[in-house]
Amino acid sequence: MSNAGRDEDREARRALRIRLAAPRGFCAGVERAVRSVEEALAMFGAPVFVRHEIVHNAHVVNRLRSMGAVFVDELGDVVAGRPVILSAHGAPPSVYDEARARSLMTIDATCPLVSKVHNEVRRHVAQGRQVLVIGHQGHPEIVGTMGQAPISRISLITSIADAERISPPPGAIAYATQTTLSLDETAAIIEVLKRRFPAIIGPHRSDICYATQNRQEAVKKIAPGADLVLVVGSAHSSNSRRLVETATLAGAKKAMLVEDPEQFDLRAIIGAAVIGITAGASAPEELVEILLTRIADTTPVSIETIDHVEEDVVFKQPLMLAAG
Ligand code: SF4
Repeated sequence: MSNAGRDEDREARRALRIRLAAPRGFCAGVERAVRSVEEALAMFGAPVFVRHEIVHNAHVVNRLRSMGAVFVDELGDVVAGRPVILSAHGAPPSVYDEARARSLMTIDATCPLVSKVHNEVRRHVAQGRQVLVIGHQGHPEIVGTMGQAPISRISLITSIADAERISPPPGAIAYATQTTLSLDETAAIIEVLKRRFPAIIGPHRSDICYATQNRQEAVKKIAPGADLVLVVGSAHSSNSRRLVETATLAGAKKAMLVEDPEQFDLRAIIGAAVIGITAGASAPEELVEILLTRIADTTPVSIETIDHVEEDVVFKQPLMLAAG
């Protein structure tokens, strides 16, 4: 081997090995919601109001804000005559009622996979079932889903302990879940419900969406033996937090969220020989690129993408924007 070849070989062996999970980052529901805000701004001009953070990612929210989007907590803060976009997480019927009562121009960016869960809940109630919803208290998606049924017909299950304790009124029971839960934890809760209520009815296909499932399966492939797994995503993002848990359970020595790759303290990777990188469904790819560039600026790296599955899901734009 030549001297140059030997140097290259030494360099390659010294390099920090980075395993990049695929798929990662933006899902079709988030793409659609973000595009809805951009298109509404192009169509109607600023300001365009958005109820809640359109997705749980400060970088995305700040970019849209700089373009003229105004984020509000409730419809009462929307200026009459201006469009308002409902976020991908979905909303309870009371929000639509209020929008109608105020004649607001509403653009519904609820992810179709969240709407599917809403429809399931309404169908169960119409067919006389009590509904148990597995999810996280206070998460906007859960607020929307719980709102699909009268309060006496629906209960929230947040843990295995809840599933062991719940005592619904006699009669038929069904369950539904938040779309962004941990597959493994949810399976354990469903097992308890099925043991306690053998006739319980569940969805034909899991309510946990394809993007959550794929990102969790992909992180399971990069985590085993990794010294550290970095999940680009916000602490508010349920699916990003689940990726951190899944990485640890799948064998990463450590896993952590990286909310802002620009500010990420690179001392965290000192001593690591193998790190995995992925991103939650609300984190754009440019944030992963910033993180990779910052790491590669400090140390030689070798990057390998580990593919779980290729995604080709695209959702149609909300009707009002599609018509434009
Ligand atoms: Fe839709 Fe799943 Fe994305 Fe949520 S995470 S917006 S349910 S595709």
